[in-house]
Amino acid sequence: MGRKKSNFVYKYFIYDEHQKHSTCTVNDCGAVIKDNHGTNLLKHMKKHPVQYKLILQENSAESEEHVEGNRKKKSNQDFEIKVMDECINLVTTCGRPLTLIDDKPFQKILDMAKAGCSHSPINSHKIREATQNKADNLCDDIASKIKKKTYKS
Ligand SMILES: [Zn+2]
Repeated sequence: MGRKKSNFVYKYFIYDEHQKHSTCTVNDCGAVIKDNHGTNLLKHMKKHPVQYKLILQENSAESEEHVEGNRKKKSNQDFEIKVMDECINLVTTCGRPLTLIDDKPFQKILDMAKAGCSHSPINSHKIREATQNKADNLCDDIASKIKKKTYKS
């Protein structure tokens, strides 16, 4: 998902693609600035302190929102990995049946745990796949360790 570059300074200018210049639309200013570089436009906006302040506020609010969004996404991922790990432990180390994952009470517990987080549902199918992947990784790991040992001796 691409994020379009947004600078609120552009709200106050009309860009003429033909002439390659931007016209200030604040009040009756009508100042013409070459090209449409955000920094140059912003420099001009200092002549309009009210709008200038607004632009800075809106720009910083937007970037904070972006950071906050990323942070939340990351913590959702961390949460899902942790929950999945415990589910895998349940059906491997503890020897519980895989169907336990789909039991309604267990699903309810998952729902309670994920409150405030948005992640895709965890079910027995997903756990089976994740367990298989983990087992494969373990096998690879063991195999490579044995290989190393063999080469060493
Ligand atoms: Zn102006």
